[in-house]
Amino acid sequence: MGKSESIVLFGPPGAGKGTQSGLISQITGKPQVSTGDMLREAVASQTEVGVKANDYMEKGLLVPDKIIIDLIRMRLLREDAKSGLLFDGFPRTLAQAVELDGLTNVTMVLSLVVPDEDIVNRITGRRTDPHTGEIYHVVHRPAPDPIKPRLVHRSDDTEDTVRNRLKSFHDQTSPLAEYYSERGVLVPIDGSGSMEDVSKLVKQSLINNFRG
Ligand code: ADP
Repeated sequence: MGKSESIVLFGPPGAGKGTQSGLISQITGKPQVSTGDMLREAVASQTEVGVKANDYMEKGLLVPDKIIIDLIRMRLLREDAKSGLLFDGFPRTLAQAVELDGLTNVTMVLSLVVPDEDIVNRITGRRTDPHTGEIYHVVHRPAPDPIKPRLVHRSDDTEDTVRNRLKSFHDQTSPLAEYYSERGVLVPIDGSGSMEDVSKLVKQSLINNFRG
């Protein structure tokens, strides 16, 4: 049997990966896997992984590769991973990318490109509905009034932490764009517009590049 074929959604923190991943998953049929969400679940349920990861996440540092790679290996064993997955927020280091290549074929890397200045503003105003996972913004996408009281602000969505997360991205993650570009699988998308604008560009690039 051949290796499964997976898609990577790539970009800095706050680029809109979580917002666009539902659409991409719907179009491609690939289940979405977010290492950030997996880690936050582990932190909330205080598992061994969660306890270790929490310190790094609160500081805006990357969680060590070994922890992440173990999570991904476990995830790929599940039945729904057979024909590949949509990875959001993974890989974030060269070691993670090399590991992933041994586990599945990465056939497309959608890269959401957003300038740093926009990111700080987006992330500090970001709020999530814990019931539905829907992502809102205090200015750009306010939640309906009845939902507002239950919205949560991620504890790592503060200005200082965002600057550290951006630094981690530029130092450790952005070199992966070149790694994937050399293989001809990188598809850059302008992620600086509105959610709807970006969704249109995402759909178009899937039509042009996805052979599922
Ligand atoms: P964002 O991309 O908006 O920063 P995520 O939810 O993807 O948010 O990640 C939150 C935090 O979880 C990161 O700052 C990092 O500490 C940790 N994390 C998530 N995915 C990875 C990964 N693949 N490798 C290392 N750390 C990770």
